[in-house]
Amino acid sequence: ISNPYTTSIMDINFLNKSKQDLLNHHIYPILHNKVKSFIVTANPEIVMRAREDQAYKEAITRADYIIPDGAGIIVASRLLKTPIIERVPGFDLMNDLIAYAEIHSLSCYMLGAKEEVNSKMIGKLKEKHPNLTIAGNHHGYFDMDDRFIVNSVKNAQADLVFVALGFPRQENWITKHYHEFDKGLFMGVGGCFDVLAG
Ligand code: UDP
Repeated sequence: ISNPYTTSIMDINFLNKSKQDLLNHHIYPILHNKVKSFIVTANPEIVMRAREDQAYKEAITRADYIIPDGAGIIVASRLLKTPIIERVPGFDLMNDLIAYAEIHSLSCYMLGAKEEVNSKMIGKLKEKHPNLTIAGNHHGYFDMDDRFIVNSVKNAQADLVFVALGFPRQENWITKHYHEFDKGLFMGVGGCFDVLAG
């Protein structure tokens, strides 16, 4: 998916659009067309990690969208005189996507966090979104090459796959196995499951 609306910070091309614009003109059409996609929400720590870790840099630059999450990214963009118009918190984006999934009958796979956090988070989501379809879920403590996990995600055929393994693990896991999945919007969501579990 080619995307001209980006601003480069330390050689990482960040999306430079509002959250609503991103959703309306990019993500919702992707979901409707069932195109496979990969979103990274990047804060300054992720940018610094990418500077030191070439494999991680390659993983995140394979994303269709690198979203500016974290005020430091906005500050850096202003200093570089290529201002990013809006900070897009990954947590907000995830919540918008879940609300959208419920309304449009799109299914979600929730991969990551500790087992009790994962199930508590799903309980809370079902309370708030009674019509949301959870196609599958699994805690995040597994080996990078665990075939059971890859097959579980593959077989669930979810429209949205939220991966909460912390960085760099979540982006590395997504890019390592991406070619095996037929569909799904894959998004690394860091500590969001813990926040949602309360
Ligand atoms: N996590 C996981 N597997 C791991 C390491 C972390 O599922 O091997 C989960 C952890 O339980 C938490 C989330 O990843 O729910 C984010 O972890 P952390 O806060 O360390 O990462 P960051 O916020 O820095 O991305």
